[in-house]
Amino acid sequence: MNVPLLDLKAQYQAIKPEIDAAVRAVFESQYFILGPEVVACEKAIAEYSQAAHGCGVSSGTDALVIALMNEGIGAGDEVITTPYTFFATAGSIARTGAKPVFVDIDPETYNLRADQIEGKVTAKTKAIMVVHLYGLMADMDPVMEIAKRHNLVVIEDAAQAVGSEYKGRRAGSIGDYGCFSFFPSKNLGGAGDGGMVVTQDAARAEKLATMRNHGMKPKYYNKYIGGNFRLDALQAAVINVKLKHLDDWSRARQQNALRYNRLFEEAGLGTELVTRPWVPRSTDPSQAGDCSCRHIFNQYVIRVKARDALRSYLSDRGIGTEIYYPVPLHLQECFAYLGHRAGDFPESEKAADETVALPIYPELTDEQAGYVVAAIATFLKSDNNA
Ligand SMILES: *Cc1c(COP(=O)(O)O)cnc(C)c1O
Repeated sequence: MNVPLLDLKAQYQAIKPEIDAAVRAVFESQYFILGPEVVACEKAIAEYSQAAHGCGVSSGTDALVIALMNEGIGAGDEVITTPYTFFATAGSIARTGAKPVFVDIDPETYNLRADQIEGKVTAKTKAIMVVHLYGLMADMDPVMEIAKRHNLVVIEDAAQAVGSEYKGRRAGSIGDYGCFSFFPSKNLGGAGDGGMVVTQDAARAEKLATMRNHGMKPKYYNKYIGGNFRLDALQAAVINVKLKHLDDWSRARQQNALRYNRLFEEAGLGTELVTRPWVPRSTDPSQAGDCSCRHIFNQYVIRVKARDALRSYLSDRGIGTEIYYPVPLHLQECFAYLGHRAGDFPESEKAADETVALPIYPELTDEQAGYVVAAIATFLKSDNNA
């Protein structure tokens, strides 16, 4: 059997007529940059995210960069964030000339520890860039409280979290900016690069729209030094089709996560052998209580001993996995100038060594999930690997 990490061909087959018609309409219009599809996409994503305004941009990375530029953040400034994330989070901060300042993660949720933020605030701190990793929102109440007390901007890196909820509030709607990615492998992926910034603030939204088009307002009169961060109509048209299916896909991902949990139990793989994702109670109907939080499982990440050996064992059996992420950002070569060393953020380093993402895409079948868990059980129960 073959179980890829992600099966985008299956998704395309399911919605092919809708996608093909939307793409054809863009070609008929020959309107490729910004335009009505982008405006419709901005409205739809903003509404979906419980935000007032949306600004379509060229990628999730550019969404982060433009949010920082919009606040004039640059050389001499500091932005607090997590080292356990995709490079673009801290990369975007460094590209503006500002300094990424890291705080370690909570080992259960993999999100940054809000209680460690305040210790890193200095006179130079301008913003907190919080990441909702794997589709689970960070603990936003204390983040917002600290930001308010120190007058800091909050940028949500929601690249993995469109539709995720924290106490009934959607990813992107709580901070000053919410940044989404439409990279094809994200849970709302386009047919190429694309992204969106959402905000509740009309003045910020107006500046963003100018900033993404060279800071021009009106045309050829440059108010700010912006850039070309525009979203293509083709990407917007694809996202407009896919957004209608997103809640079904998110539900399927949640069901797949619950099925993995059940299969691990049935295979005798307790949490001492396989650490499962931490789930807000309301995502798991089998548990009592309700915090009105919603994990949308952009990834289903487990923690195991002998992670690398398990990965190659699964790969030999046709099972795709991935490590998100093998090197925490404070230990990346390009950030050597920050002067960090191994041991500075132990929970991030441990997570980088022990975690692996399993296939969780909506079209995953019972048979495929059973095959994945059976292979993991065989590996972990053999004497050499437990
Ligand atoms: C994917 C991702 C980004 C970047 O998005 P792109 O669209 O690939 O530029 C930023 N942050 C996180 C956490 C991501 O997962």
